[in-house]
Amino acid sequence: MLECIVTKFGGSSLANDEQFRKVRSILELEPTRRYLVPSAPGKRFGDDDKVTDLLYQCHSLAAGGKPFAEPFARIRDRYLSIAQGLHLKVDIAAKLDEVEQGIAGGKGKAWCASRGEYLCAILMADYLGWKFVDAADGIVFHEDGTLDDERTQEKLSAVLKDGQSAVVPGFYGAKENGEVCTFSRGGSDITGALVARAVNADVYENWTDVSGFLMADPRVIDGPAEISSITYKELRELSHMGASVLHEDAMFPVHKAGIPTNIRNTNKPYHPGTMISKNAPNEISVPTITGIAGHKGYSVISVEKNMMNSEVGFGRKVLQVLENYGVSFEHMPTGIDSMCVVVSSPALEPHRVEILREIEHLVEGSGSVSVSDNMSIIATVGRGMVHNCGTAARLFGAMSRARINVRMIDQGSSELSIIVGVNDSDFEATIHAIYHEFVG
Ligand code: ASP
Repeated sequence: MLECIVTKFGGSSLANDEQFRKVRSILELEPTRRYLVPSAPGKRFGDDDKVTDLLYQCHSLAAGGKPFAEPFARIRDRYLSIAQGLHLKVDIAAKLDEVEQGIAGGKGKAWCASRGEYLCAILMADYLGWKFVDAADGIVFHEDGTLDDERTQEKLSAVLKDGQSAVVPGFYGAKENGEVCTFSRGGSDITGALVARAVNADVYENWTDVSGFLMADPRVIDGPAEISSITYKELRELSHMGASVLHEDAMFPVHKAGIPTNIRNTNKPYHPGTMISKNAPNEISVPTITGIAGHKGYSVISVEKNMMNSEVGFGRKVLQVLENYGVSFEHMPTGIDSMCVVVSSPALEPHRVEILREIEHLVEGSGSVSVSDNMSIIATVGRGMVHNCGTAARLFGAMSRARINVRMIDQGSSELSIIVGVNDSDFEATIHAIYHEFVG
């Protein structure tokens, strides 16, 4: 039996009083849901505002000496209407005044942005009758603004150790000197994962407005199948290539602690969503592929040099040039006297001339360097491929039948993914070919 579930609700799940009601009924369905991490209220309809965006706007107006009454009135309205709709007793108007004064008084950008989650958590704690625990008392940031993981684990488990049901606002924490810091956008997912680890939860439920992950981008494949179970490693490969539902940094704390994450849909509370776990245990049958994700816009730097394979350290020198300009590489297929380095084109662009000049210098007189752009990278990911013959044959067979030219192939030794590089103009056709081959 599950004993403790940590829930995180995203902005669209908290956009108005009706959404708050749905959240409470989800908690009532399962009494072991004992901790809740809210985002700030998000959009209620297509072109509505997210409270966090309004707060950033207020801060930047105030910092420029301009009035911010108009966007702040919209923020005030959002919280007052939730409080009124739910007949809450908490004096949220007074809290809103404090926030307004803080912004006017020159509080920093992170403090201003964090108030969205802070106010939302105060409302939610009052609505549920749960304890409010300020994230500034449990989530610790280093002086340089990065998370202090160890101190966070220590402090957060200490503030939650009484076991009382609690609401902990997402997205922010504080340095040891009390200065508020935020994660990057979407960072409430990270707070949820840190709370799950601190209380040693059985499951971390991340409630949003979709029923989990899809096997492919719905903008490319019409109505792609849902992924019911995925491992953290597979998800990492897919999210790196652009499949996004969860903040990338939210996976590490729970993955390390062996806590599964369940992506759920607030608007379809009985849908099981996607379960992300370390090993996807107890599987009766594993699909060959779990998902496909890809990106356009890569450049391939090809370097040829006579006797490259016998020159110790040549590869390092090439990569050193990229490192010096802060460009990270994605893939590096090599031949005997040649190597290719695949980088994102927007990352290469600002230093393209200098990087090429320096690599040319390394091969002077005995080789050549060239770049070709407009390459897409597509990753086909699946734990079902491991030790399974024929997956690559099927994948390349499908591509060849669709008359797609493969410009690059990379399969890691983990056998968890097959990565292909194709022309940007073949991006959609490649995803179609692979999807229909494996999923139908
Ligand atoms: N409210 C913040 C944002 O809009 C954090 C979050 O929602 O996770 O990015």
